[in-house]
Parts: sequence; C-alpha cells; structure tokens
Amino acid sequence: MLEHKLRTVIRDIPDFPTPGVVFKDITPVLKDASLCLEIVDDLVEKLEGIEIDVIAGVESRGFLFGLMLATRLGIPFVPIRKQGRLPYKTISESYKLEYGQATIEVHEDAIETGAKVLVHDDLLATGGTVVASAKLIEKLGGVVVGFSFIISLDFLKGEGRLTRFSDNIISLVR
Ligand code: AMP
Repeated sequence: MLEHKLRTVIRDIPDFPTPGVVFKDITPVLKDASLCLEIVDDLVEKLEGIEIDVIAGVESRGFLFGLMLATRLGIPFVPIRKQGRLPYKTISESYKLEYGQATIEVHEDAIETGAKVLVHDDLLATGGTVVASAKLIEKLGGVVVGFSFIISLDFLKGEGRLTRFSDNIISLVR
C-alpha cells in the first residue's frame, strides 16, 4: 500500500533546521521514479470529482509533485514563491512564523478570475503557508477548490485553518 511505502521511504531528520523540529525528508522518494508516478496516480484518484482548472504549488517542495500533477491532469501549474524570486509583476501576502514572518508572492497574471485552483504543497504543518497561498489566489479572483499534500502533521491541527476555503483536503500520509 502506498501510504505504508511512503512511511518507510520518507526520512525523519531530527533537529533540522532547528532543535526540536523533526524534518520530513522526501528526497529518498524522488529517487524512485515508479513511486513518484504512484504518488501522482493516487493524488489524481483522490481528487476525482473535484473540478480543477489550475494547480498552485508552494516553493519549493510543492513544485515537485505540483507540476507532475498539473501535467498529468493537462492543466496549468502556477508557482507561489518566496519574496523576490518571481521575475514579473507580483502580489504578495505575509504570514506569521513561529519566530518572525514570511512573505510569499505570485505573478499578478497567474490566475484568471473564477479559475478553480488546487493548492499543493509537500507537507501541511500549522497551515500558515497554504492559508497565505489561498489568500493570494482569492486576491487574484481565483476560487480555492481544495488542498493536497504528501504529508500532514495532524498534531499541529493545520487542517482546521483550511476549511474556510475548502473541505477538500487530501493527504497521502498522516
Ligand atoms: P506550515 O506553514 O506551518 O504549514 O509549514 C508548511 C511548510 O513548511 C511546507 O512548505 C513544508 O515544506 C515546511 N515544513 C514545515 N514543517 C516541516 C517538517 N517537519 N518537515 C518538512 N517540511 C516542513
């Protein structure tokens, strides 16, 4: 079963990037091409029935399966990036981190009014990153129709912050 396989392949790195954090390292997953395809197939299956026009992936690990998923569905991929990385005109959104704050951006012409957008990232922790991403999408007139993750850290209760945008929250490993 895919979930079991992912549990064995995803690597826990204690105290990275700061003491007390257990970092979920997906780089071993990326070395296994058939596992990557299985992940995309499973995401597609779990997203069945949801109308999606665009996948928005969050820098940087949200780009990996976000683009694969968009390509597989035959729809556009939109990168949401950290401040200062996108070359064209952008709009931005800031959000709180445990210490300090972060700002993410998207190109102002990335999403058409009324487009149904799925937000994808590798991992859901507190939800701050994808909530800010969803706000960016709404600022451009897009409609957030769901969220997908490879991993959700349920004990951080990030999902509760996402339901105001959509109840479609998909995660392959919890
Ligand atoms: P949050 O905004 O708290 O939901 O954090 C999610 C973002 O931070 C995602 O882009 C993740 O890639 C990254 N992240 C947070 N915690 C972890 C973790 N324990 N392992 C790997 N990535 C993490």
